[in-house]
Amino acid sequence: MSWHEKSLSDLSRALLAKEISSVELTQYFLGRMAKAKGLNAYLDVQEDFSLRDASLADQKIAKGEAGPLTGIPIAHKDVFVTKDWKSTAASKMLENYLSPFDARVVELLGGNGAGMVCLGKTNMDEFAMGSSNENSAYGPALNPWNTNYVSGGSSGGSAVAVAAGLAPIATGTDTGGSIRQPAAFCGITGIKPTYGIVSRYGMIAYASSLDQAGPMGKSAKDCALILNAMAGHDPRDSTSLHKDRVDYQSLIGQNWSATSDLPLHGLRIGVPEEYFSQGLQEEVRHSVQEALKKLEDLGATCISVSLPKTKLSIPVYYVLAPAEASSNLSRYDGVRYGYRAKEYKDLNQMYERSRSEGLGPEVKRRILIGTYVLSQGYYDAYYLQAQKIRRIIAEDFQAAFTQCDVLMGPVAPQAAWQVGGKSQDPVEMYLEDIYTLSPNLAGLPAMSVPCGISKQGLPIGLQIIGNYFSEAKMLQIADQYQQNSSWHQLAPPSSGVQI
Ligand code: GLN
Repeated sequence: MSWHEKSLSDLSRALLAKEISSVELTQYFLGRMAKAKGLNAYLDVQEDFSLRDASLADQKIAKGEAGPLTGIPIAHKDVFVTKDWKSTAASKMLENYLSPFDARVVELLGGNGAGMVCLGKTNMDEFAMGSSNENSAYGPALNPWNTNYVSGGSSGGSAVAVAAGLAPIATGTDTGGSIRQPAAFCGITGIKPTYGIVSRYGMIAYASSLDQAGPMGKSAKDCALILNAMAGHDPRDSTSLHKDRVDYQSLIGQNWSATSDLPLHGLRIGVPEEYFSQGLQEEVRHSVQEALKKLEDLGATCISVSLPKTKLSIPVYYVLAPAEASSNLSRYDGVRYGYRAKEYKDLNQMYERSRSEGLGPEVKRRILIGTYVLSQGYYDAYYLQAQKIRRIIAEDFQAAFTQCDVLMGPVAPQAAWQVGGKSQDPVEMYLEDIYTLSPNLAGLPAMSVPCGISKQGLPIGLQIIGNYFSEAKMLQIADQYQQNSSWHQLAPPSSGVQI
């Protein structure tokens, strides 16, 4: 097995046994990254900084001070600010922007925390707005399974990096599906935890009440290991939760019920009927149903449930997220951060030109929508109404969770589409988010697990939605599924990109 195919615990074992040093492992991944530049997975790579961090990790290992992640390389979505790598959020507005500090997640995982080695910053939709990575100001990250297809968004670069073996693990963020959907499109595993578990400090804000960071990796087990290092209260994030430390790995490998030999005996899976209605591609339906059958073979019971407000999640999200974005992005005014227009007559023209030239079309569209729904006279009709329905959507989930332990369905209505296939019609693209938006609106944890391959050879994802703080159980279920299936082990063919 090559180094990029190994699990995090195997990498850790090899590092501790001195079969490979962190510097060598980092060089190995940097080498693969250089060969796969055509995938456009990374926006900034600084080999010197990566190798510096790797050699510090090697020193820790030599002194016997290593933890379970020390010396393992990781890629960070370019939405997390970093001191040594540029932090652009894939926007021209922040081209060449260097942050004076590291995001909390980067700090927790890096040299002064878990001791991981940053390989670089991954591509994304500009300010995390998008479902295909095509809104990146630096061109889309391409799907390694077939480079004519999108990688998904917004954390497409992280998904591509893990799927193509350009990083053993990566971070992502999910406001309405941005970890789960690219994970599904690229055939990897990703989890968006309960809102408030992972600090948003230093995460470039899109829609603050929905944004949440999480891991993207090859398996549920790898994600659990990283989540252990990412989660925790942070006084610098006012929405960060005060929770006792949870060991997200604690249930990995354990049976659901202690009294049965069947690994998932007693597990009740709620299958929302609205997640299988019109618009769901036949092959996706088939793969998800096969996965549910497999889980039943492992002892679980499927129960049909209803989430009646599912359809409303699209209008609600596309009012609330732009509203928050219009406020969050007002800081990019040409004065305090990043891009400033070269020519202007006065202050107003400076603002106008800097924002017109620095921001991309989708970002501008959302700022316009957000400003509109927040303006006097429209606020009650749109923003307030959307907030009320958001609450009802959250209540729908609680009603469903009285009947089941977790919910399962597809991540997206179809597998990845061709590059350019939907970029002309924003609403068509928004509709692709139908199954991923409502967990964010409710603040619930949700994950994506590979469960099939389409006729075109593209991965399909199974979505698991849990109740608040049920990450450890979700990872346990996903791990049991992965112990008994092999979808997560399939690797993309190199499809035109030489590795
Ligand atoms: N696709 C959704 C959007 O365009 C979700 C993005 C995200 O989760 N960051 O807003």
